[in-house]
Amino acid sequence: MFAVSAATAGGAGPTRGPAPLRPSPRAGIRGDGVGALSRVHYGRGYVNAFWDDGCFCMTFGDGEGDTHPLTSIDVAGHEMTHGVTAATADLVYSGESGALNEATSDILGSMVEFHADLPADTPDYLIGEKLDLFGDGRPLRRMDRPSADGESPDSWYRGIGRLDVHNSSGVANHFFYLLAEGSGPKDINGVPYDSPTRGGITVTGIGREQAAAVWYRALTVHMTSTTDYAGARTATLRAAAELYGANGEAYDAVGAAWAAVNVGAVLPTMPVVTHPGDQVTPVGTPAELLIAAPTAAGAPTFSAEGLPAGLAIDAGTGRIAGTPTGAGSTTVTVTATFASGATADTRFTWAVTDGTGPCPSARLLGNGDFESGTAAPWTATSGVVDADPGQSAHGGAWKAWLNGYGSSRTDTLTQTVTVPAGCRATLAYWLHVDSAEDTDKVIFDRLTVTVNGTQLAAHSNLDRADGYTRRTVDLSAYAGQTVTLTFKGTEDFSLRTSFVLDDLAVEIGD
Ligand SMILES: [Zn+2]
Repeated sequence: MFAVSAATAGGAGPTRGPAPLRPSPRAGIRGDGVGALSRVHYGRGYVNAFWDDGCFCMTFGDGEGDTHPLTSIDVAGHEMTHGVTAATADLVYSGESGALNEATSDILGSMVEFHADLPADTPDYLIGEKLDLFGDGRPLRRMDRPSADGESPDSWYRGIGRLDVHNSSGVANHFFYLLAEGSGPKDINGVPYDSPTRGGITVTGIGREQAAAVWYRALTVHMTSTTDYAGARTATLRAAAELYGANGEAYDAVGAAWAAVNVGAVLPTMPVVTHPGDQVTPVGTPAELLIAAPTAAGAPTFSAEGLPAGLAIDAGTGRIAGTPTGAGSTTVTVTATFASGATADTRFTWAVTDGTGPCPSARLLGNGDFESGTAAPWTATSGVVDADPGQSAHGGAWKAWLNGYGSSRTDTLTQTVTVPAGCRATLAYWLHVDSAEDTDKVIFDRLTVTVNGTQLAAHSNLDRADGYTRRTVDLSAYAGQTVTLTFKGTEDFSLRTSFVLDDLAVEIGD
């Protein structure tokens, strides 16, 4: 009775890529073969059911007037799943991790209902529909359209962690429904569904067996106690890749289903090459640069034009290496050609210096516009590199969005760069500050800019304004040094402030 159906979901095999991992059957809730007790007829008119780690048991009330016991199979599966979660990822029961904890129980509880397939309780994506808690036949929650309960959001937004976990869970429930069944009108066992998606994104479902196996593996292998929605996206993508192959249909569906609930973008199947920033290299000194093409379009073949003499690109890895033999400045174009025949390129300046001429004019920092859709070569906390239309980019679609949650949170964005000797250098960035703080005097949320740990600039909720402003920090004192630039946004427990950065560069010149 206590085996969660997803534990034994075998999956339908690989679509593309390597042989799948087979999920192994789970030996009971805790994985130790020990059964859990259920206590019923609890209290008087008690309209709830709950799992208790302390007694490793469940308790069920008899509901309003002791006439609607909360013992339907989806609710029982929900409570048992809380035990599975406690024994695995152990998601903290508040904020976004709490939302994922609750959603895991709704998801696997519903999979229990589908697995049991009872004529008296035909399987559906409604939660507690047999309990009639409202007296009008409405279910407690709907996975396909969480907003049907009037309180749960259909999509993720910053600050969702402030909601009750039974409402913020809706985003993951919605994700799971879309992953299993896909978007568009459907009739399943007589219940009509037409799940909404952000921006009308089309999601092709991969079926309940695969979807449940992906969630179960993400929960038991990749999620931790503090996993948030961005982390759940990563965890499920990893699980899908491991079970059904990287770049397989299940993997793509996971990305699309999260995008449809506003967690991350649709994986870029459009070819893209990350802009590495301009390069400045002393003559006669070995140089190395890795060009990246982060995309779901597969591994490309690289070629380069205009490289300084002495340098060459590895077609398979995109690694440019060698020792430049003569001073001068060239424009380099690196082209990535994908298996489909599609190409993408990026263009930058490569200056080779011999210490005699003026400092070359160049804009350092890789992926300064974030248009690769991934962080590298930046290091960023989850959710920072972002294409959510809730805040517009300064240029293109992507930007770095720090904070904006309205709860205690620190976001960082970091990159290391070498400032050429003998050059003037300026860190330039476009900043938009959007704040719900209504004070003109008190700083609650702040963004600091540090260079090798020394703070050189600070912004706060007091800088809130429409649109972007160009900001600069003088880095000339760091000429000849390798420096780590860190943007750190710190938000207090209430009233959100967003620090949105775009089009960053370290501009050097004479
Ligand atoms: Zn629960």
